[in-house]
Amino acid sequence: QELQTRVKSRQIRALRGTQLVCRGWQQEAALRMLMNNLDPEVAENPAELVVYGGRGKAARNWDAFEALVNTLMDLGDDETLLVQSGKPVGVFETHPRAPRVLIANSLLVPHWATWEEFWKLEQKGLTMYGQMTAGSWIYIGSQGILQGTYETLAECAAQFFGGTLKNRVVLTAGLGGMGGAQPLAVTMNDGVALVIEADPDRMRRRLETRYLDRQAVDLTHALQEVEHARKVGEAVSIGLLGNAAEVLPELVRRGFRPDIVTDQTSAHDPLNGYIPAGLSLEEAAKLRQSDPNEYVRRAKQSMARHVEAMLAFMDQGSVVFDYGNNLRERAREEGVARAFDFPGFVPQYIRPQFEEGRGPFRWVALSGDPEDILKTDQKVLELFPNDERLRRWITMAEQRVQFQGLPSRICWLGYGERAKFGLAINQMVRDGVLKAPVVIGRDHLDSGSVASPNRETEAMKDGSDAIGDWPILNALLNTAAGATWVSVHHGGGVGMGYSLHAGMVVVADGTEDADWRLQHVLTTDPGTGVMRHADAGYEKAQRVARERGVKIPMLDG
Ligand code: NAD
Repeated sequence: QELQTRVKSRQIRALRGTQLVCRGWQQEAALRMLMNNLDPEVAENPAELVVYGGRGKAARNWDAFEALVNTLMDLGDDETLLVQSGKPVGVFETHPRAPRVLIANSLLVPHWATWEEFWKLEQKGLTMYGQMTAGSWIYIGSQGILQGTYETLAECAAQFFGGTLKNRVVLTAGLGGMGGAQPLAVTMNDGVALVIEADPDRMRRRLETRYLDRQAVDLTHALQEVEHARKVGEAVSIGLLGNAAEVLPELVRRGFRPDIVTDQTSAHDPLNGYIPAGLSLEEAAKLRQSDPNEYVRRAKQSMARHVEAMLAFMDQGSVVFDYGNNLRERAREEGVARAFDFPGFVPQYIRPQFEEGRGPFRWVALSGDPEDILKTDQKVLELFPNDERLRRWITMAEQRVQFQGLPSRICWLGYGERAKFGLAINQMVRDGVLKAPVVIGRDHLDSGSVASPNRETEAMKDGSDAIGDWPILNALLNTAAGATWVSVHHGGGVGMGYSLHAGMVVVADGTEDADWRLQHVLTTDPGTGVMRHADAGYEKAQRVARERGVKIPMLDG
């Protein structure tokens, strides 16, 4: 009753505790995570069902959302719900160990895979943009990307600055759902962050959740603060209201010298994500409605100026990298021939982790009790006592990360480790150490689940960047292995035509059945990452496959 009232009034917040409204925990978990994605603490724009990442949505429209809720409440333990771009389209009898939900989001036949075609179909109500974890119901707020951002910057510091960002300035833009993690990730690495953001509401949100330390009144003030912090070695993040395509060129003109430059505006979506230079937010919103073509033209031109400024910083000696929003591609389309002169963050900093199946393992306490997460934090440290990076991360996360929605945690774990920890969590649920079951999932940005030539699979050793088979195999295998829900998406991170990727979630409800599912899925899932990188010729992946028993038929012959 209460749930229905909430759904009708659009006040979405996941239920907490052990009382179920569904017919089992697997379905209940999907329902709670769908609702958690749209919790105002979690979603960037819940009124429009937008979770993060431009217009990354959890459901196609409110009717579809209500139908999803009702269908999940009614779904049997031997049934599987099919979701087509945010709309429930069928329920079939399968079997208890099959996934309860299978999701396909934003997929278009390759020749038609452009934003223009997508927007046309979206207008007709036939599809929705699912981003990565928005449409696959495992978004956990900015923490979800915080560790990845922290690790990326730590690796950058190790490669270029002797292992710390102390006395170093990172210049970036975008304080959205994911980009909002940047300032905190910089200060966690002891550096100074200067972050440009066009939308005052987004700025306020990051200040309120302590992801951002303070806001400068204008550019001159920002530069004074930044230079002071750089000099005295203060770890601080400073936000500046403005448009990156205007502010960055101005910073070049003023001779500002950042140590690192990157960007996380929503450049992947030139209509709904990136704000063109020279327009206020209101003017941008009006133009988007009245003349979308003109909007896109201006957005792309602005991205070209934005990238030119980044190249100018690079030429002066700054470390510059693309942060996975396809900004370089747009600039190249606008004639910036050197757009790809700076690397993407995956080949530069992350790939060695992907080679051994390491990636973003996240978990959510369905009890709603933060204590449950603190207990699992303890457990992961107990299981991997020699992992110093993990200890540093968990300690900092406990001190500095404010939960959004259902309490959750993320940490990067490798092949073997994920299954071990998943089973330990299930045991804690079984023993009553935790108050309710736990959802275990991950970002699609992972080792075996993405084909994205300008991001996760940029510059693969064997040139297989654009091969789309791998994420599909990942999703099919996780389905066979008993994940609770599995999703296949198109266009996440970098936009239409540029990526295919898959998600998975598996629920630890304390049962033996869950042991089986967790053991299988948390092995198959990172296993496909090891397989993919071994196949591409990465030696570390080949070694991991041999040592840890990932069977790869043609590896040794
Ligand atoms: P979001 O849409 O929630 O936020 C984007 C922010 O950029 C907004 O606050 C917007 O106001 C701001 N913005 C847009 N144009 C601007 C401009 N010209 N100048 C200044 N600010 C501007 O998106 P998000 O979830 O934060 O993701 C940001 C981008 O990063 C997306 O393209 C996303 O696909 C990509 N991404 C990267 C990673 C990663 O690990 N690097 C992961 C997920 C997503």
